[in-house]
Amino acid sequence: MPLSPMMQQYQRAKEAAGEALLLFRMGDFYELFHQDAKDAARLLGITLTTRDKHKQPGEGDGPVPMAGFPHHQLDPYLAKIIRAGRRAAVCEQVEDPKQAKGLVRREVTRVVTAGTVTDDALLDPAASNYLAAVCLGEDSAPAGLAWVEASTGRFYASAVPRPQLADELTRIGAAECLVAETLEQALPAEVGERLAVTTRPAWAFGAESAEAALAAQFGAKSLEGFGLDRSRPGHTQAIAAAGAVLDYLQETQKASLAHVERISLVEPSSCLQIDAATWRSLEVTSTLRDGRREGSLLGVMDRTATPMGARLLAEWLRRPLTDPAAITARLDAVGELVDHGALSADVREELRGVYDLQRLVARVTTGRASPRDLSFVARTLARLPKLKAKLTGRASDRLVAIEGRIDLCPDVRSRLEAALADDCPQSPGAGGFIRPGYDGTLDECRELMAGGKQWMARYQAEEQERTGIPSIKVGFNKVFGYYLEVTHAHRDKVPDEYLRKQTLKNAERYITPELKEYEEKVLSAEDRAIQIELRIFAELRDLVAAAGSRLLAAADALAELDVLAGLAELARSRNYARPNVVDDPVVNIQAGRHPVLDVTEPEGSFVANDVACDAAKGARSEGPGTREGSEAESPWPLAPGPSLLLITGPNMAGKSTYIRQTALITLMAQAGSFVPAERATIGVADKLFARVGASDDVSRGQSTFMVEMVETARILNTATRRSLVILDEVGRGTSTYDGLSLAWAIVEHLHNSIGCRTLFATHYHELTSLAGPLPGVANRSVAVQEHEGRVVFLHRIVERPADKSYGIHVAELAGVPKAVNQRAAEVLADLETKADSDAPRQPGIAAGGGSLQLTLFETADHPVVEELRTLDLNNLTPLDAHRLLAEWRERV
Ligand code: ADP
Ligand code: MG
Repeated sequence: MPLSPMMQQYQRAKEAAGEALLLFRMGDFYELFHQDAKDAARLLGITLTTRDKHKQPGEGDGPVPMAGFPHHQLDPYLAKIIRAGRRAAVCEQVEDPKQAKGLVRREVTRVVTAGTVTDDALLDPAASNYLAAVCLGEDSAPAGLAWVEASTGRFYASAVPRPQLADELTRIGAAECLVAETLEQALPAEVGERLAVTTRPAWAFGAESAEAALAAQFGAKSLEGFGLDRSRPGHTQAIAAAGAVLDYLQETQKASLAHVERISLVEPSSCLQIDAATWRSLEVTSTLRDGRREGSLLGVMDRTATPMGARLLAEWLRRPLTDPAAITARLDAVGELVDHGALSADVREELRGVYDLQRLVARVTTGRASPRDLSFVARTLARLPKLKAKLTGRASDRLVAIEGRIDLCPDVRSRLEAALADDCPQSPGAGGFIRPGYDGTLDECRELMAGGKQWMARYQAEEQERTGIPSIKVGFNKVFGYYLEVTHAHRDKVPDEYLRKQTLKNAERYITPELKEYEEKVLSAEDRAIQIELRIFAELRDLVAAAGSRLLAAADALAELDVLAGLAELARSRNYARPNVVDDPVVNIQAGRHPVLDVTEPEGSFVANDVACDAAKGARSEGPGTREGSEAESPWPLAPGPSLLLITGPNMAGKSTYIRQTALITLMAQAGSFVPAERATIGVADKLFARVGASDDVSRGQSTFMVEMVETARILNTATRRSLVILDEVGRGTSTYDGLSLAWAIVEHLHNSIGCRTLFATHYHELTSLAGPLPGVANRSVAVQEHEGRVVFLHRIVERPADKSYGIHVAELAGVPKAVNQRAAEVLADLETKADSDAPRQPGIAAGGGSLQLTLFETADHPVVEELRTLDLNNLTPLDAHRLLAEWRERV
C-alpha cells in the first residue's frame, strides 16, 4: 500500500535533508518522524509518540515514531540541536493552507548548522560564529583554510603550514569545520574533538570550480584582487577551502548571499603565532576552568559599546600583529583617545546608540530583515554625523581613516526616517509600521478603516431621515456583509432601491448599492493597506541592500572606532602605559601587572614587578645580553638583560603569575593595546609559547606528562630567536630526577641553541646553579618574609635565587593540621642533613670543550635498588609484588 501523499512529501524532503533532523511543519507544530523522532526525543527531551498508532503496518502509513513541538519554540530547540553537533532542516508550509488545493506545499526553507546560523536568537552578539573549511594538499604543502561568518558575510582565507593547522582552527574558534570526506582521517586529531566536523564530497573542494564560483560571488574577474593566486604555495588549497565554504553556505542558507562580497587573505606571518596549548593556557578569550569569557583577558579588556566592537576586539586578540608600524598605528589612535578624554567619552556615548550594523545589513541583503531591523539601521545612521564630526581633524592615521570610511548615507537615512514609524514590529505581516503622511493611498486606506464606523452612523441617520423610518439600523454579518434592517412595522415605507436579502421573525434585511460599494472599500482597505506597507517595506529593504557595501564599510569603521575607544577607556581607567613597540627581541617592563589579577584582586593589592629580558645576540660566545643597538628608540636607557630568567620560589608565591603577565602584556601590546605597567618596551615577537602548569588533559586520553613533553618538543623545535617562551614547572609530571634532568637540558637548549627570550618558572632549586656557567641565564625569585616562624609572600620578584622551598609553610597556610606540619618539618630537617652527608644532590656541571655536560645523581646503590633493577616484571604476580613491596619497606 502506497504511503499517504503527506508522508510521500515527507520522504522527499527527508531525502534532500540527509543527515539533518527534518523539522516538518504541520499546522502549529514541527514534527519529526522515524529515526529523527527518536533522536529528537533524546536530544531535546520531547515525548516520543506514534503516528497512526492503531493502524497495522501496511495499512495507511502504519505506526510511525513521531515527536514534535509547538512552532513558537523553534529557536530554543534549534539552539539545542546545533549545540549537540547536529543539523536541522526546517521544512515549512510554503502556501496558505486555506488557499491550498489538496495537500499544502512544503519546502525545506533553510538548513541550520552550528557554523551557518544567522538567527539572532541563536547567536551571541559579542562573539563571532565561524564556519571553516580545511583543504589538505600534498603532505609538505601548506593547508588551505577558509572561514566565514554567515551572520555578517566576513570571509577569510589563509595558506597555513600544515603543523599549524590545528592551532589556527583553535584560534579562529570555528563552530563547524568542513572537510572532504576522503580526508577526514588526515585532519589533526584535536580538531575533531573541539569542533563539529562536517564531511563534504570531495568535488566540493575543486580549486578550479571554486575559483570561478568565488569570482562570480564577488562580481570579480579573478581572485587576484583579493591576494589569492594559485601560483603561490597553499593558495590552491585556500581557494578550494573557500569554495567549499561558499558551496555549503549556498546549500544551507537557501537565500541570497549578497552580503558575502569579498574575501580577505590572512598571511600567517603577519600575526603573532600562538599555538593551541598556549592559546588555551593563557586564557585569552575564555577561561580554562569553565570556558567562559568572564575572567579571561578578553573579559577584562572589553570596554566596547557595541557588539561589533566586542567581536572585533576578540579578533585583535586572536591575531596580534607583528609589524611594528601597524601596531604603532593602533597605539597612536588609542593614545589620541586617551589624551582627549572628552572626545573618547563622547564617542563612546554615541556608540552606545549604535546597533549591530554588520548583522543588520547582512539580514537586509539576505532578505531576512524585519521592519524593526530597518528602523535600527535608521537609528544607527542618525548617530553617524556626530561621530564623524568628532573625528574630523584628528592626528592619528587610524582615526583619520575611520572618519573617511564612515559614509553617512543620507539618502538611505532620510528615506527610512520618513517612512518608518517610531516603533516597528518584528514581523511585517500585520502592517502598521509605515509613518502616516508617507504614502497618500496608504493614508486613505487607513482613514477608510478607521472612518468605517462614522460613515455607518452618518449613513444610518441619513436613511432614517430620507425614508422616515426611525428604527432603521445598519448592521453587519459574515454572510451578507453590511445591511439595513427594517422592522416589519415599517415594511411599506421601504424604498424601491432596497434589495431584500433576509427575512427574520420581525424584521427584514436589505442591502443598497451604496452600502455594497462602501463595504467593498472598507473590507479591502485593510488588505490594501497591508499590501502597500509590504510593498514599501520591500522598497526600503532594496534601498538599504543597494547601499550594503557603503553601510558595511561604515559598520567596520564603527567597530574599529569602538575597539580603539574601548582600549582608551581601559587604559585610562586601569592606569595603563603606552608600550614602546620595537623590532628588536627585547622585553623590558617596569612595574608590570597581570591584566586579569590587576582587576580581580582587591584594589591596590596586586604587587607590580619588573622584567628585563633580551634575546641572545647571535652565537652564545658573544656573551649575554648584547643587543642590536636600538637604544635610540627606547624612551629610557635599557641595560641589556639576560635571555633566560629562571624563577624560583615557594609555591603560591607568584611565579606563574609573573611569567604569564609577561606573555599577556606582550600579546596586548602587539594587539595594539596599552599595557598594565608603568613603562614597557616590547620587542615584537614572532611566536608566543606558554607551557603553563600541569593542565590535565585526561579527556584527550594522553597522560599529562606526555602532553607536556609533546608541547615542550614543539617549542624546542619551532621557537626562533624572536619568540617569547614561558615555561612553568616543566618536568613536574614525572619523577624528580627525570623531571629535573629534562628541565635542565631544556634550559640549556633554549639558552645555547635558540637564545629566545625565556621565562622559566621552576620548583627545581638545582637549576639555579645554571646561572653561573650559562651567561644568559639569570636567577630571579619571589621575595618571602619570615616573621616569627610564619611566612609572608611579598609577591615581589628579586634578583636572586630562592633559598628554600617553604612547602611546609604553604601546607600550614592551607590548614593542614599542626601535628602533620611539625612532623614534616622534622622529616625535612632529617632529609636535609642526610643529603648533605650523602652523595651530591646537586647535579654537577662540567664545562668541557665549550659544551656543558651533566653528571647527574650518583645515587649510592642500595641493595633494594639493585633488586628492583633486576626484577623480572613479566613473571611477577600482583600478590608477589605486594609481598616484595612490604619486604622492601621493612629493609629501607
Ligand atoms: P606560584 O606559581 O608561585 O605557585 P601563582 O603565580 O600561582 O604562584 O600565585 C598564587 C597566588 O598569589 C595568585 O593566585 C594570586 O592570588 C597571588 N599573587 C601572585 N602574584 C601576585 C602579585 N604580584 N601581587 C599580588 N598577589 C599575587
Ligand atoms: Mg605556579
